[in-house]
Amino acid sequence: MFKKNINIKIKTKILNLRKKIEMWNNNYYVKNLSLVSDEKYDSTLFELNELEKKYSMFLNTSYSNKIVAKNICNKFKKIKHLSNMLSLESIFNYKNLLNFHEKVKKNLFYNEKRYYCCELKIDGLAINLIYKNGILDSASTRGDGLQGEDVTKNALEIKSIPHILKKNNLSFPKKIEIRGEVFIKLSTFNKINKMLKSKRKKLFSNARNMASGSLRQINPKITKNRSLSFYGYGIGYVNEKKYYYDQHDALKLINSWGIPIEKNTELCKSLNEVKNFYEKSIKIRDYLDFNIDGIVVKVNSMKLQKKLGCSSKYPRWAIAYKFSSEEKCTKILGVNFNVGRTGVITPVAKLKPVYFMGTIIKYSSLHNKDIIDKLGIMINDTVCLKKSGDVIPKISRVIFEKRKNVKEIIFPKTCIFCKSKIEFCLRKKNLYCTGGFLCYAQRKQLLNHFVSREALNIKGMGNKIISQLIEKKIIKYPSDIFKLNTDKIIFLKGMGLKSSENLIKEIIKSKTTELYRVIYGIGIPNVGIYTSMNLANYYKNISNFINTSYEDLRSIKGIGSFTSNCIKKFLKDKRNISIISDLLNVNLKIK
Ligand SMILES: [Zn+2]
Repeated sequence: MFKKNINIKIKTKILNLRKKIEMWNNNYYVKNLSLVSDEKYDSTLFELNELEKKYSMFLNTSYSNKIVAKNICNKFKKIKHLSNMLSLESIFNYKNLLNFHEKVKKNLFYNEKRYYCCELKIDGLAINLIYKNGILDSASTRGDGLQGEDVTKNALEIKSIPHILKKNNLSFPKKIEIRGEVFIKLSTFNKINKMLKSKRKKLFSNARNMASGSLRQINPKITKNRSLSFYGYGIGYVNEKKYYYDQHDALKLINSWGIPIEKNTELCKSLNEVKNFYEKSIKIRDYLDFNIDGIVVKVNSMKLQKKLGCSSKYPRWAIAYKFSSEEKCTKILGVNFNVGRTGVITPVAKLKPVYFMGTIIKYSSLHNKDIIDKLGIMINDTVCLKKSGDVIPKISRVIFEKRKNVKEIIFPKTCIFCKSKIEFCLRKKNLYCTGGFLCYAQRKQLLNHFVSREALNIKGMGNKIISQLIEKKIIKYPSDIFKLNTDKIIFLKGMGLKSSENLIKEIIKSKTTELYRVIYGIGIPNVGIYTSMNLANYYKNISNFINTSYEDLRSIKGIGSFTSNCIKKFLKDKRNISIISDLLNVNLKIK
């Protein structure tokens, strides 16, 4: 019974994953829309593959073809591939690579060399070119692996695809499939997007979408204007055995016929060399004029490739080893300074918008001066964004080789919001505005903090209400809240008679409160809820607290020198004392 339930669960899971992939594929291939980030897509597909491998009884064999069949758009004629054109299975770590290697090893012929042909995995779209006696006969997309869309007219507009192969000392085969990747150079991508922008047309979110949209065009003239590029990566079907070459030699062969190939390709003689190639690829990707999202590892021996064969979905002799912690590069256009509740000033880099992990990133926090110095960031620098956990990507490094016309990041001397003095906190390595409630940037957040659940706990007084009250200059300091009446709040957006009355009731209720709530609510830097309780417990009433000394504070268990300094400094400021006495003047009853 138990087992049966689990089976149903797994089956549902597999079906749901398939549905998701199908929906994404359909949007991606037919409408050129990426609904999810590449990483999300890859990891979902990986999860599905793993489940299907483990629970093969649920694997409906007609399925894999069925889902991709929908990926063919009706606007193109279909062309049948001479040999299947499967996509590659993706892996993400060295352990997966070892597994792949073990499987290959099991199938080794006696004294067969374990070489791998390693190539950069260009992020474009696959194309199948059929040459008959050296003349381009047809070009098609991958489609469902069995047949693709006829894009011959468009392929003829791609300069790097030869219409006629170059003669060498080997005669041309009667029929050969040459496979490769069509992509768009990043420099071209930027140029075209700039042009589209000037015409107020919709921009492409990434180079691959642009390449795909440009190749799969009814109008070949558009393909021509987009100046697509092409690299060959292998041979599919060929009618004569004498053209059966090992992968690395096959690349040399097609290159001698005038097919451009990517020049970083390496023949790796050990797994260690594959690993080195992978690491090298991560380093060079920033300098390439095209996007790569990993490397392709192919068993070099043709004989062994044939022996390994294919599963229902993937060839067993090749694998796509993807970059796991994806990096994206962009430029720092400037730096803004945000002021937080406690006055901390956070430098935020304004970035040249970049599509990353499924969203467009425009800003990235630089945290503090220390981090800026450590990374050596300057305005106009080209920087790399790196995925950090599941949250917002962070700037991980500067590409110093690309440094040009840089400017130093200069921190303001006075607060840009309230002109108060800016001080440096040595321990936290950050700058903060000393304005407190006087600072417009801090006021809203301080007041929100003051009414929050653990502080004065005024129910119904949310951010929206506070923002309006501040904008209308009805409140400025905490004590102003207790001077509110229904007449002053009934006109606010989202308020009615009933809700106004309720809010006033809540405000009145909160006037009888506890000491720790007030200490916490006035927002002393570095004083959280537990420290506030600790202090309230010790001082018993507000005037004892106001008149305390540093030594007295230090004598309290759990309060260190840093916190003591923060409190003492806060209490030294007359403005803060008047905020507290104003609260007492509006009859705040502190228990
Ligand atoms: Zn300020």
